[in-house]
Amino acid sequence: MSEFSNPNLEVLISSEEIQQRIKQLGAEVARDYAGLNPLLIGVLKGACIFLSDLMRAAEIPLGLEFMAISSYGASMRTSGEVRILKDLDVAIEGRHILVVEDIVDTGLTLSYLLANLKSRGAASVKLAALLDKFDRREKEVPIDYLGFKIPDKFVVGYGLDFAERYRNLPFIAVVKNPEA
Ligand code: 5GP
Repeated sequence: MSEFSNPNLEVLISSEEIQQRIKQLGAEVARDYAGLNPLLIGVLKGACIFLSDLMRAAEIPLGLEFMAISSYGASMRTSGEVRILKDLDVAIEGRHILVVEDIVDTGLTLSYLLANLKSRGAASVKLAALLDKFDRREKEVPIDYLGFKIPDKFVVGYGLDFAERYRNLPFIAVVKNPEA
C-alpha cells in the first residue's frame, strides 16, 4: 500500500493548496527582500520541504543555512530553554535573516531562536512558518510569512514526522490512530 493513501491518515491540507500558498509566500519574500540578499535559515529537520519549495518560489539571490535545535524536552516546556544541536556555519552580523520553520506551536522554540539570532547583530530577523497552531501559544511569536492556521491537532507530512515517519507525505495530515 502506498504511504500516501494510508487509511490511518486524514488529509488536512492538500498538496495543491500547499503549493499554491507557497507560490504566494515566495512572491512576497522576493518583493520584500529584493536587493537585500537575505539569509534563509532552515530549522532541521521538519522545515526542509517547506524551505526547499519556498526558496524556489522566491526568485531573488539569497543564502541558505541550517540550524538544529532540541524540540520537546521536559525543561523546555517549563522554562523555554532550548538547546542548539547544530549552529550556523557563518556570522550573521548585518545580514537580513529569514528563519524558516515547519510549525509554531507553543512558540517557545521560536521565541528563543529569534532572540538568539537578534543578539548576534543581524540587520533584521523575520519568520516564515508553514503552520500556526495558535490555540497552544504560550509565547507570542510574530509570524511574518504564514502558510496556514490549523486547529490543535498533531499533524504530519510535508516534513513533519511522527517518530520519524511521514515526513515524505506531499500533504499535511492528522494521524487517526497513533497506535496503529
Ligand atoms: P513549539 O516550541 O512552538 O511548541 O514547538 C515547535 C516544534 O514542535 C516544531 O518545530 C515541531 O518540531 C514540533 N511540533 C509541534 N506541533 C507539532 C505537530 O502537530 N506535529 C509534529 N510532527 N511536530 C510538531
